[in-house]
Amino acid sequence: MDKNIHEINEVDNNKNENITKAVEQIKKSKYVIAFTGAGVSVESGIPPFRGEGGLYEKVSENVFDLDYFYAKNKDCWYMLVKHIFIPLLKAKPNLAHIALSEIEKKGILKAVITQNIDTLHEKAGSNNIIKFHGSIDIFKCTKCMKIYRFEQVIGESTLNLLKDDKNDVIIDKNIFEKFEVPRCKSCGAIIKPDIVFFKEPIPEKALNESFNHAQNSDCLIIIGTSGVVYPAAMIPQIVHRNKGKIIEINKEPSEYTNTITDIFLQGNASEILHNIQNLLN
Ligand code: NAD
Repeated sequence: MDKNIHEINEVDNNKNENITKAVEQIKKSKYVIAFTGAGVSVESGIPPFRGEGGLYEKVSENVFDLDYFYAKNKDCWYMLVKHIFIPLLKAKPNLAHIALSEIEKKGILKAVITQNIDTLHEKAGSNNIIKFHGSIDIFKCTKCMKIYRFEQVIGESTLNLLKDDKNDVIIDKNIFEKFEVPRCKSCGAIIKPDIVFFKEPIPEKALNESFNHAQNSDCLIIIGTSGVVYPAAMIPQIVHRNKGKIIEINKEPSEYTNTITDIFLQGNASEILHNIQNLLN
């Protein structure tokens, strides 16, 4: 047999063996939770922030910096709408999001703790979701805290205006001039997306709920996260410390792979989770 084919078969066999092990582990666990990051949404067409093809090639990390948001409010809002909100709202859940929602419906998965802001878990039908870093479906007045939905802060006219800004990196000055920063209809103050910016604390409810789930969990599935963003990255560590098992699905090894992961499934989240979902039937 050709050596390369032999090696490929061996990789496939190891992968299948590990998927079987993961399914057995999930079946015998009592409190399975999932912990997701940018990688779970890559196959929905949303790039991660860092690395080749990442969002930071188009926008600076400043767009998520709280001081920058207040100091350069119009620049920040413009870049967020153009490069983050519009692409994220267009995206559709992939097989990975759907598998998690189906595994929850079977009563196996107790919660999804996500670092993502893209709302794809709820679009896929998951119910118990903890949005650790907030999400793009809520916007709040920075003064009176009035809550808004995306359509209420970014209307059709703004969306049409931005459609003409085809440039990836440079802002079209004429369009930028016409862009208006969303302001509260009650008090006139600036509206802020309800996502956690750098220098902002994690919302207390999300923090407490996540840590409670982690304390109760005997099996956590890591999906598409490199494990470098804290305090979110602590969640799998809590489960590991309490002797829970860690299953990891990532395209590349992460901070967890050689430290706390028990079963590493390397590859695309959609294919692996879809297989797991089928084997749990
Ligand atoms: P990260 O960019 O640090 O890591 C992404 C991980 O996903 C890597 O380990 C990579 O190997 C893996 N990956 C990539 N494609 C994959 C695929 N198809 N299947 C499985 N794994 C895949 O992301 P992070 O750890 O989530 O940290 C970045 C922060 O930015 C988080 O807060 C994250 O939520 C946020 N973010 C959110 C979105 C979103 O809402 N969709 C997008 C980008 C970044």
